[in-house]
Amino acid sequence: MQAMDKYRSIGLKLTPQRMAIFDYLDGNKDHPSAEEIYKAISKKFPTMSFATVYNTLRALKEKGGVRELTIDPAKKRYDPDTGHHNHLICTACKKVVDVQIDYDLKLPKSVKGDFTVFNNHIEFYGVCPGCKEADEQRMKKEGTNVHRTQDRLYVR
Ligand code: ZN
Ligand code: MN
Repeated sequence: MQAMDKYRSIGLKLTPQRMAIFDYLDGNKDHPSAEEIYKAISKKFPTMSFATVYNTLRALKEKGGVRELTIDPAKKRYDPDTGHHNHLICTACKKVVDVQIDYDLKLPKSVKGDFTVFNNHIEFYGVCPGCKEADEQRMKKEGTNVHRTQDRLYVR
């Protein structure tokens, strides 16, 4: 299905600005934030407001056309891939990578009680190759020991 058909079928009015947003999101694997989407689109539509981007993302999310990720505490990230998958995040640069592996997780009855569980989402945290390389360069240059954990950078 073409991207435009997808968005038309979920009942969103297609304005040129919205089409530019959908076009930008289509097949996008970068998990961009609203700010990043706005920055990219406003090159083509300088009169477009941030509110248009934000409202379009909200409408899209309500219709199930985009997934909102909260794994980056600084800003929400948007994923046009609404199928079930997990994520790996670089805690240094906040790069988000898809993990297209299914893990068979079952909650024991003693935990879930009478809850009916539909879904899960696993977040993996680490350091991407680029940030690891930058850390190593810094260690070499400054003679320091750089060590990262989930949310902290240690320099000794
Ligand atoms: Zn990184
Ligand atoms: Mn994803």
